[in-house]
Amino acid sequence: MDKYTKKVLISEEKIKEKIEELGAQISKDYQGKDLLMICVLKGAVVFMADLIREVKIPVDIDFMAVSSYGSSTSSSGVVRILKDLNESIENKHIIIVEDIVDTGLTLKYLVENLKSRGPASIKICTFLDKPERRKADITPDYCGYSIPDEFVVGYGLDFAEKYRNLPYVAVLDSEAYK
Ligand code: 5GP
Repeated sequence: MDKYTKKVLISEEKIKEKIEELGAQISKDYQGKDLLMICVLKGAVVFMADLIREVKIPVDIDFMAVSSYGSSTSSSGVVRILKDLNESIENKHIIIVEDIVDTGLTLKYLVENLKSRGPASIKICTFLDKPERRKADITPDYCGYSIPDEFVVGYGLDFAEKYRNLPYVAVLDSEAYK
């Protein structure tokens, strides 16, 4: 903890519990299917690493990096692909793994983009959801925790590239970005 991360919102224990649940559900839902999980860098990397170890069926993984043109704490919906997938997703069942859905604008773009590549199905798995802030018509199929409209860091989520290594989720004091 430092002076800007005063309140732990989700503890390590709660995170572990939830990831076990999500992994079990995904393993059940995709039994016998060709599953590809796509991690959206960088924020989802910690969640992805823990989640795939709770998936007990064969799974392929791939990575994408996108950047949204906007300020550091809000999204504009204009998205640029910084790193594309390595493999084709045609006829594969894909799950997009995100750190947090906020306005939903980034995911809206990603889903449309990936749909055009002919996958067998697309679902969204997000660690956190801030439904109050939604602007795009996006509903995660799998969700760890819904949280109130506060800026959070830790467990992969950053502020100015810091705090990703915290093993829990904390609320960032607004003083940090003043
Ligand atoms: P959206 O397009 O849904 O508004 O934005 C999603 C992206 O915004 C997330 O992948 C994340 O990078 C960033 N974001 C949204 N809310 C938060 C937050 O509370 N904390 C952090 N660290 N990033 C956030």
